[in-house]
Amino acid sequence: MSREELCPYCGGETCYKDVERLLRGGNDVAVVTVPADVCLRCGTQIYEHDISVKLEGIQRKLDLGQTEEFQPLGRYFQVVNSGIPLTGITARPNPPPFGRGKVVIPRRETTTPGDSGGV
Ligand SMILES: [Zn+2]
Repeated sequence: MSREELCPYCGGETCYKDVERLLRGGNDVAVVTVPADVCLRCGTQIYEHDISVKLEGIQRKLDLGQTEEFQPLGRYFQVVNSGIPLTGITARPNPPPFGRGKVVIPRRETTTPGDSGGV
């Protein structure tokens, strides 16, 4: 079984490895380690469909505050007065914490779906 995914954004080579994914729900954060193809060039993480479904499930629990089965992990801080000058321009409300984006590949990595255009 050879996995040779190319990054859908930049065409860079990817490396299959375990990555930490940070999920936010309200003021809560969950850290989940999942296998992903990670682009060596731009850092995009590509997940299998099943992994993505699992992550969505965890996200849903986080949103609903159902965190009983999660293990507490340290404390979570927001640094307000860091002394770092900012641009004042807010990029995006919720940028992905790791990588530049999330891509889900179909259940079986056969060929790309017929659609070949559009963003
Ligand atoms: Zn890339």
